[in-house]
Amino acid sequence: MVGVNGYTVECGVRGALTPRPLTKQPVEEAAMAAKQCSKCGEDRPLSDFSTNGAGILKSRCKPCRSADQSARYARKPIEAKKAEMKRISGWVKLNPEKYRQYARATRSANPEHYKAKVNQRRRRNRLATVAWADKSAIAVIYRKAIAISKATGIRHEVDHIVPIISDIVCGLHCEANLRVLPLAENRSKGNRVWPDMP
Ligand SMILES: [Zn+2]
Repeated sequence: MVGVNGYTVECGVRGALTPRPLTKQPVEEAAMAAKQCSKCGEDRPLSDFSTNGAGILKSRCKPCRSADQSARYARKPIEAKKAEMKRISGWVKLNPEKYRQYARATRSANPEHYKAKVNQRRRRNRLATVAWADKSAIAVIYRKAIAISKATGIRHEVDHIVPIISDIVCGLHCEANLRVLPLAENRSKGNRVWPDMP
């Protein structure tokens, strides 16, 4: 029998199969403006759902998927988290260009988030600035970081030797507490290391 249900072919005839209809519709065919999330049950715009490789919308909305992912990560034992961080930093080392592209895309997709971070840093620096701080000496250090970055092609940042914000110490935003460091070194140090720390 041929064509009974669209899936059968005459015995021995190959390549005559009608493609199996998709159980879910690809995005462009889904003539709807909203979709219900299987997790939170809300009707959300299609842009709130990611698609799989075949262009089919995921059943949970982006916020629900991201919350589930964070919860799953939080439940992991610390060793697994460390292994995950190691895997990611290994990938970044192997794919620096891809990582830069990804970071740039994330930054331009979330401009408010990054603007808020810059503002927060400025506010903290302002609060940690003492009256006797030499503003022009500080500016010289920031210009030096830019000059070194340009000359070496390696991004350098201004580091607070004693961190401004940590649980134990409060460093100052003054010329004596500032130095130029390569970005990678500064980021790996964070606010966890300083001279004469307890
Ligand atoms: Zn949802």
